[in-house]
Amino acid sequence: MQMMTFTGWGVPEKATDTSRLPKLWPFAHRVIGLTPEMARPCVDPATIRLPESRLSAASIRELGACVGVDHVAVDHGTRLLHCYGKSYRDLLRARLGQVERAPDAVVFPGTHAEVERLLAWAGAQGVRVIPFGGGTNIVGGVEASPTIAEPIVTVSLRRLNQMLALDEASGVATLGAGMLGPELEDALNRRGFTLGHFPDSFEFSTLGGWIATRSAGMQSDARGKIEDMVVGLTVATPSGTLVTRAVPRAAAGPDLKQLIVGSEGALGIITSATMRVARLRPREYRGFLFPTFEAGVGYARRIWELGLAPTTMRLSNAQETQFGMVLKPPSKGLSHLATRAAMAYLRRVRGYDLDQTCVMILGWELPADELARKRRAALRLLREFNGFDGGAGAGNAWYARKYDYPYLRDLVMGHGGMCDVTETAVLWKDVLPTYDRIHRGLREEVQAPDCAGYVGCHLSHMYAEGVCLYFTFGARQDERDPLGQYLRVKGRAMDLVLSSGAALSHHHSIGYEHLPWLGQHVGPLGLKAFRDLKRTFDPAGVCNPGRLVPEPDSLMTRRWPGRAAGTDSVPQP
Ligand SMILES: Cc1cc2nc3c(=O)[nH]c(=O)nc-3n(C[C@H](O)[C@H](O)[C@H](O)COP(=O)(O)OP(=O)(O)OC[C@H]3O[C@@H](n4cnc5c(N)ncnc54)[C@H](O)[C@@H]3O)c2cc1C
Repeated sequence: MQMMTFTGWGVPEKATDTSRLPKLWPFAHRVIGLTPEMARPCVDPATIRLPESRLSAASIRELGACVGVDHVAVDHGTRLLHCYGKSYRDLLRARLGQVERAPDAVVFPGTHAEVERLLAWAGAQGVRVIPFGGGTNIVGGVEASPTIAEPIVTVSLRRLNQMLALDEASGVATLGAGMLGPELEDALNRRGFTLGHFPDSFEFSTLGGWIATRSAGMQSDARGKIEDMVVGLTVATPSGTLVTRAVPRAAAGPDLKQLIVGSEGALGIITSATMRVARLRPREYRGFLFPTFEAGVGYARRIWELGLAPTTMRLSNAQETQFGMVLKPPSKGLSHLATRAAMAYLRRVRGYDLDQTCVMILGWELPADELARKRRAALRLLREFNGFDGGAGAGNAWYARKYDYPYLRDLVMGHGGMCDVTETAVLWKDVLPTYDRIHRGLREEVQAPDCAGYVGCHLSHMYAEGVCLYFTFGARQDERDPLGQYLRVKGRAMDLVLSSGAALSHHHSIGYEHLPWLGQHVGPLGLKAFRDLKRTFDPAGVCNPGRLVPEPDSLMTRRWPGRAAGTDSVPQP
């Protein structure tokens, strides 16, 4: 079972090849002051010391009785690979070899019944369990907090990786929660279907993880977020198994499956889900340009008003657009001349300031006639916003490279840089003011005396009523206190998000990293409701402690500067 490297993203073979991107280092130097000579090696993971397992030999044998002896791991490598997710904070500590607490064992159940047995055993023994899908979360969702005294068993769902049923007439499929994106799409594509959920982490994240975090994929404009696709769930909880009926809609009180969606493993373990699937359709992606971010936002909103929603729409601000250009392999011959001619035309005839120009990727995966109709209308509407059609080449090139971008963070971190993301959702009326506030605040945080720092942003995951704003920020790392630097910048971003009335997160979930702000998002009664839910499904606190329900001494409330438990954002239980 191949897993990602401990200290970075994905697999080493796909690391960014800078020799093919001649503009990358000059850009990195100008914006955040990095050079290729600043290489910062990370520690050899094999040398990282882990705390001794707190499970006795007898407990390990009992775990073997729950899931099969071959599916219990206590070796250094497996424990290490299940310590962290993939946030900047995780990778920073991984690169420095800092692990305070590790799972005491990792188990790989192969059936729902084994998960039930495991939870019953954990409840009886006072053991804590952490569900683990692909480990790609960026909020501290799978980390074992050093404040937990009890033994911790991480439960990898990766053996639940089969499609269990496909009901073609209803357009629903029942799928194992541990299926990785490519496994799931392969199984469906072979039968002419797709789930149509493609987060940037698609290659390494799982169905169960998507559901547990309320994930969003790039086709959410047409397909919705993952919660819009869940028709039914099977969940093992310490209080028993919950099966929600796979029916299109029900008027039977609050929707129980939606209480489980986004519960981050704190209420139980999702073992399978019945999901709405769609037939595979023709696909086309195009790249548009706009003279300003405001013009692009206006265009995006108008498309929705006119009922012309595409499958994917993603508008980058000017800095992200410039970064995108840097990541394009150099064009040659005619294509190079065509690009230069187009830029000259935009500047001279259309009045574009190329430093302010913003790119939009628009994609349709629709029946051919509907695709043609929507494309025609989208192209016609460009005129109203002084937009420019860069053609299908630009859009399809973005589509082909989209899973390569996450590797760039390793390059930045490997050369003394800090970079991370923060995202939220706002109503259309608040898009520009919220963008301005967060963008300005982040710029102040990342600027250095010799360079301005990087604050990219894109608008994506659009709805009739609003949209997700997704910021990426980068700066040279403060090598004296890299974690403190990150917490300061991320903390500022979160303060700005919450004080703007925007969502705590649109799709990255809460984990540990967003926990200090949860009270502001849901209010005191909301927090009480979460606590009551936890008491119902998991009265002894077996599942993923410290998530969803802030604990007085949980990892992030203890460590986040100025955000100790008991502040107004995290009321005491
Ligand atoms: C480079 C990169 C790009 C990303 N792009 C996107 C994106 O485009 N869209 C997006 O939404 N997110 C994105 N993410 C975040 C992350 O991929 C998502 O949160 C994803 O849904 C996590 O899935 P996972 O299988 O890796 O879950 P994990 O990280 O293993 O777990 C996440 C949480 O879910 C719980 N959990 C996992 N499986 C189960 C289960 N079966 N039952 C109960 N609880 C469970 C865990 O305990 C944890 O709390 C990205 C992350 C990275 C690093």
